[in-house]
Amino acid sequence: MSKDELYDVIILGGGPAGLTAGIYAMRAALKTVLIEKGLPGGQVAITKEVENYPGFIEIGGFELCEKFLQHAKHYNIEIVEKEAVATEPGIEYHSVRLADGTILRGHAIILAGGGTALKLNIPGEDENFGKGVSYCATCDGFFFRDQTVAVVGGGDTALEDALYLAKITRKVYLIHRRDAFRGSRILQQRVFAEPQIEIMYNTVVTEIQSNDAGVKGLFLKDTQTGEKSTIDTDGVFIFVGFKPNSQIVPAGIKLSTSGYVITDEKCETTIPGLFAVGDLRQKYANQIVLAAADGCTAALAAAHYIETCKS
Ligand code: NAP
Repeated sequence: MSKDELYDVIILGGGPAGLTAGIYAMRAALKTVLIEKGLPGGQVAITKEVENYPGFIEIGGFELCEKFLQHAKHYNIEIVEKEAVATEPGIEYHSVRLADGTILRGHAIILAGGGTALKLNIPGEDENFGKGVSYCATCDGFFFRDQTVAVVGGGDTALEDALYLAKITRKVYLIHRRDAFRGSRILQQRVFAEPQIEIMYNTVVTEIQSNDAGVKGLFLKDTQTGEKSTIDTDGVFIFVGFKPNSQIVPAGIKLSTSGYVITDEKCETTIPGLFAVGDLRQKYANQIVLAAADGCTAALAAAHYIETCKS
C-alpha cells in the first residue's frame, strides 16, 4: 500500500460480507485492498457455533471466518489491519482516510462495517457471552432445546425472537422494562397467545448469575416497586436494539430512520461507486449467508461500474 496508489476497490470491513466482496473482486482481477481494524470475521468470529450456513451442518464461528479469510487470501488480496476513520466521495475516485492519516483512493468503495448489538452492560453479561448469553436467536436458539430461556427487550426483535424460541425451548421469560411493548400489535397478539411465554413487565435484569457451565439465573428488579427477585434460566437473549456501524458512512448517503444504509438491488448507495453490504445495509434479515450474498453482489456491480468509468 502506498499513498499514491489508486485501487479499483477499497473494502472497509473484514466480516463475511467484506471478505466475500474481496473474493469476488480478486476473481474479477480488480486491484483490491481490504481494511479491517480488528481480527477479520466481524461478529461471526465471536459466535460459538454456526448451524445455518449452507454446507456446514455445524461449524464454529471463528473457524468459518478463518475459512472466509483463507479463501480471500488464496487470491492474494491485500489486507491492511488499520482503522478507517472517514470516507470522502469524489468524482473521478473516492477516498478513505485511515487513523494514521494515510489517504487511499479507489474507483469504488464497499462499506462493510457491520453492526453491533446493544448490550445491557450488567455484571455477568460479557463473561457469559457464548455460554448462555446471546444476541441472536436464530444463531443460538437451537442450543437451548427443551430448556428455559429469558428474552430481554420489548421491540419487534424481542417479540419475534421470543416467539421463535418458544417453539424450540420449554419456557421463555419475556422481560420488559415497561408495562407495554414497543413492538408491533400483530407480534404482541402472537406473544399473548403463546402459552410457553411468561411476560414479566416493569422488570429489569440487574445481574446474570452463572457457574462453570454458564448462565444459571438472573437477578431482577421491579421498576415500580424496587422489589428484587431471581429466576432460574439456562440462557438469556438480549434484544435491546442493534446499531449499524455507520460512523464512516459519508454524508449524502441515504440512511433509514434506524441508521441503516439504503441501497438498490446492486447494493449501491445513493452515491455512484459507493456500495454497502451486510449488516450495515437496510434489508429483510441479518444473516451470514445474506452478508456473503451482499458481498458478491456489490463486487460484481463494482466491477461493472469500474469498467464503465474506465471506458
Ligand atoms: P428497538 O425497537 O429499539 O427495541 C429495543 C427494546 O429494548 C425496547 O423495547 C426498549 O425498551 C428495550 N431496551 C432498550 N434499552 C434497554 C435497556 N437498557 N434495558 C432494558 N430494555 C431496554 O430494537 P429492535 O427490536 O431490535 O428493532 C430495531 C428496529 O428493527 C425497529 O425499527 C424494529 O421495528 C425493526 N425490526 C422489525 C422487524 C419486523 O418488522 N419483523 C423485526 C425486527 C426488528 P423501551 O420500549 O422501553 O424503549
